Formats: sequence, C-alpha cells, structure tokens
Amino acid sequence: MPLEDEVRVVSFDEGFTPLIFRNFRGFRVAFKLEYLFPTGSFKDRGASLLVSKVRELGIQEVVEDSSGNAAAAIAAYCAASGITCHIYVPETASFSKLTQIRMYGARLVKVPGSRQDTARAAFEAAEKSYYASHYWNPFFFQGTKTFAFEVWEQLGFRVPHNLIIPVGHGTLLLGAYFGFQELKASGMIKETPRIFAVQSENCCPLFRVFSEDLTYLPHVVEKESLAEGIGISQPLRWKQIVEAVKLSQGTFLKVSEEEIVSSLRELSHQGFFLEPTSAVAPAALAQLAKSGLVHSSELSVVPLTGTGLKAADKIASKVLGP
Ligand SMILES: *Cc1c(COP(=O)(O)O)cnc(C)c1O
Repeated sequence: MPLEDEVRVVSFDEGFTPLIFRNFRGFRVAFKLEYLFPTGSFKDRGASLLVSKVRELGIQEVVEDSSGNAAAAIAAYCAASGITCHIYVPETASFSKLTQIRMYGARLVKVPGSRQDTARAAFEAAEKSYYASHYWNPFFFQGTKTFAFEVWEQLGFRVPHNLIIPVGHGTLLLGAYFGFQELKASGMIKETPRIFAVQSENCCPLFRVFSEDLTYLPHVVEKESLAEGIGISQPLRWKQIVEAVKLSQGTFLKVSEEEIVSSLRELSHQGFFLEPTSAVAPAALAQLAKSGLVHSSELSVVPLTGTGLKAADKIASKVLGP
C-alpha cells in the first residue's frame, strides 16, 4: 500500500468482510458481504487509504462530491482523524445518506442542478483545498485493491474464475482489477479472474462504449433508477474501466428495473437486506447463465455492496408496496 507511515493510518479495523457460499438463480456463488463495513458500504476501503494519505501529507481540509456512500465514507474517516470535510451534494440526494454525512460532522454544500453541476462545483472548490474525490483521487483506488487480496486469501489463496461487479465510477471494479494484477506481478497467482461489469439499463454509458465499440463516451440521458449508486452518466475513468474488463476477457451487461427488483426481493428472502444498487450484479447472473458466459461449475464472486438500511424509504415505496 502506498503509505509511508503506518502510525497515521486511519482505520476502524475494517475489511475482511465475510465471503459466503450461496445458491442464487441456480448458481453456486460466493457473496462478499461488503455492506458490513462501518459506514455501510465497500467505500470504506478507499476512504481508509485516501484519508490516511491525507493525514500523512499533513492536510487539514478536504473536498468531496457524492450523493451517497462515498461521501459518507470520506466523512467518517475524516471525523476519525479530525480533518475538516466539505461534501458537495446534489439537491436530490437521499435523506438518510445526508443524515449520516451530517452526523459525522461534515459540512454539506447543496448544489442545485444535476450531478455534473455538483461535480463541477466541487472541482472548483478543490482548487483551494484538497480534492479527496473517490473517482479522481488515485489513492482511493489503492484502497479498494484490498477487495482482491481478501478474496484470494479467503479462497485459500486461489483465484475465482469470475467477478461480477456493479459499475458506476468503477472504484470497486478497478480496485479489484489492480489488486489481482499486483498479485500476478508479484508471482503469487498465475491467472486473474474475468470481470463481468453490470450497469442499469437506465444509465449504461460504459455498456454502450463496450458493446458499440465506441471511442468516445456517449451522451446518455440518465433516467431515474432504483440503482442510484451507479447512476453515473459521465464516468471519468471510462477508458480505464472498459480496458480492464476487456483485458480480463470479461464483458459488460445491463439489467432492467424489473430485474433489479426481483433480484433485490430474492436476496432479501435469503436474509440479505441491501440497497437496490447491490442487487444489480446478482441480477445479471440469469443473463450470464443463459448466454453460457458463466458456468455453474466455475467459481463466481459477487460483492453485495451496500446496506438496505440507508435506503429503507425507497425500498418501502418502490419495492415492497403497500
Ligand atoms: C459506489 C457504489 C457502487 C458502485 O461503485 P462505483 O465505484 O461507482 O463503480 C455500487 N454499490 C454501492 C452500494 C455503492 O455505494
């Protein structure tokens, strides 16, 4: 890990989330319970490394923009280390995530307009501060690498055949990719897993770049989706993400709102209470099986990325019904 000074590491002793085997849609898969992090999502992996670096550099104040889990993670780790944190959010951000961010003591800046307007405002503010962005800042991706190291260790130092990962900005996908590449470069493993990247049909710019073989990022009109965590119409690292999936011999998939709902229901009925974005990757298993891309004899790891407790209102109104 790119840290000089272990004494300054900001940590809740997070990580080593359980990796458990379950049957899902006729598949035996290993779910990695990433929703069991201190702030309720895998974003703590990136936040721990990034905020540790910020502390090591002696920086007192940072800026981040996100409407949800990334901001909550950065805010929590800043709180733990006494760093002042300004979070830029779109006006439409979810109430429980905002409450969490405010309770950590972060300063909220509400920006009218789209998510891109929020990003622009944060970027400008970052000219006079430090940009602790989960998608710009490379240290965040150094933290999410630990996902790969843990999977490898938890499987008895073996590599799964497939990783099935939801993707918006690609922080988990690229972190996992870098982690397995490092294991390979260090001679610990010979093969790396295929990466299947899953987006929602309502916002799938990466799926389009891959399947239409585009050399630019298409303009997509973001439709509302239950999968708010991956509703990213302009992923900054789109080239890097598409390249990683290609090199891994994987592919991109998209799932409909109905597929997300039925996947979320089925997961809940197995005892996993998740935010809808977390149901996106498991939802793709049906397509992967039908197309023959993934076989049930192979080992597939699927992260369950975020807790349902932060999205209970939305789940109650859009999924559970009266
Ligand atoms: C952030 C997030 C994702 C997607 O991660 P990206 O880094 O945007 O690709 C998926 N699920 C949950 C719950 C998240 O918080």
